[in-house]
Amino acid sequence: MSFVSLADQVRPSASDGGPTPTVRAAQAAFADRFGKAPQWLAAAPGRVNLIGEHTDYNGGFVLPMAIDRYAIVAAAINDDTRGPSGPRVRVHSTALETSVDLPLDAALAPGEPTWANYVRGVVRGFQRRGFDPPSLDVVIASAVPLGGGLSSSAALEVATATMLEAATGTTLDPREKARLCRQAEHEFAGVPCGLMDQLASVLGDEAGALLIDCQFEIVRLVPFADPNVSVLICNTNIKHALADGAYSRRRAECAEAARQLGVPTLRDATPEMVDEARGIFDPVVRRRARHVVTENARTLDAALHLEARDFASVGALMYESHRSLRDDFEVSCPELDVLVDVAGEIGDAGGVLGARMTGGGFGGCTVSLVRTRRVAAVAERLASEYKRRTGCTLTHFVSGPARGAHLITPTDAS
Ligand code: ADP
Ligand code: MG
Repeated sequence: MSFVSLADQVRPSASDGGPTPTVRAAQAAFADRFGKAPQWLAAAPGRVNLIGEHTDYNGGFVLPMAIDRYAIVAAAINDDTRGPSGPRVRVHSTALETSVDLPLDAALAPGEPTWANYVRGVVRGFQRRGFDPPSLDVVIASAVPLGGGLSSSAALEVATATMLEAATGTTLDPREKARLCRQAEHEFAGVPCGLMDQLASVLGDEAGALLIDCQFEIVRLVPFADPNVSVLICNTNIKHALADGAYSRRRAECAEAARQLGVPTLRDATPEMVDEARGIFDPVVRRRARHVVTENARTLDAALHLEARDFASVGALMYESHRSLRDDFEVSCPELDVLVDVAGEIGDAGGVLGARMTGGGFGGCTVSLVRTRRVAAVAERLASEYKRRTGCTLTHFVSGPARGAHLITPTDAS
């Protein structure tokens, strides 16, 4: 299959639908705090990764889909220059009910409160590129659950960047915009993530998922929208504390596997190479490598099957991906396993084609492919079994592939 650039497929910055509840919430909060209407409303989606987990930092393949859950950034110029505080960006988050004042007359650096580092980092990225934002009043409202593995952080960064493009009269190249946002996440939030989340939020497309080659940062649209099949996202509402340390350890183990195999990254290794190198590998490092190389193969296969609408084959690959993440990469947890087990028990007869954990692991969400006419019954069964087997409460929603970052004209939203 060939890869093509999506840059020319990014739609113009205009809204084509009515205001969503999140847009209305952002506008109302903006009017409430600042006593005026916003000049700009920027929207950027979260994402769910259909398959291709822990492959991004190994130069591999991922298959995310932007979801119909957006971070909305409402903003207007603050031309109140009478105060003593100098140029600044005043930001309020409705999710956290907290505000912060970011001075623009000195270089922004990471600090408290930490949630504001995502905004600081993006503002700094614009400054570094010579696009100095003016003084701004900003409100953030988001329908992406925070910390649930659906990339509320990238949605926040990309929505902020989209607003700053408008406020500074700049249009960044989409990949450059994604990189600017990732740099904010690396340097200001201290999260050494790959580019998947930001690319998906910038380039998301209602027609399908995005196959991303993480080594060359090439994105290919994989159209699959089909009214008979739905993507069901289930949030365990669990985040186990060991997630951060385990992430750095997995990265180190993958780097070690690549070193022992004599390849720059595991992208360049095959399952056969990993098998043949049995003798020289520490068994743990070998299992990590086996996950990555098989997951890359599964992701490429899944993209082909998805485009062919062979959802049963995609579903089978999703179950395999989960087993590999659980047994070889060891990043699942009992709550995620329960959801995937119950999905398997419901099975094709009950309308489930496949399921897996999605995101970094140790909590967060599962993603399932479900026959649309069964989706309500499947979600109900998952929720009740989850409660029964773990004592915890599930939240879930269905999302089709969604449009990437865009501006919404405030008149459309009023
Ligand atoms: P994920 O990206 O999977 O949701 P992360 O831990 O990467 O999880 O990012 C979550 C963090 O991003 C939050 O803890 C918060 O600091 C920041 N964040 C995301 N959305 C918002 C928001 N609407 N308001 C304030 N901070 C937010
Ligand atoms: Mg994140």
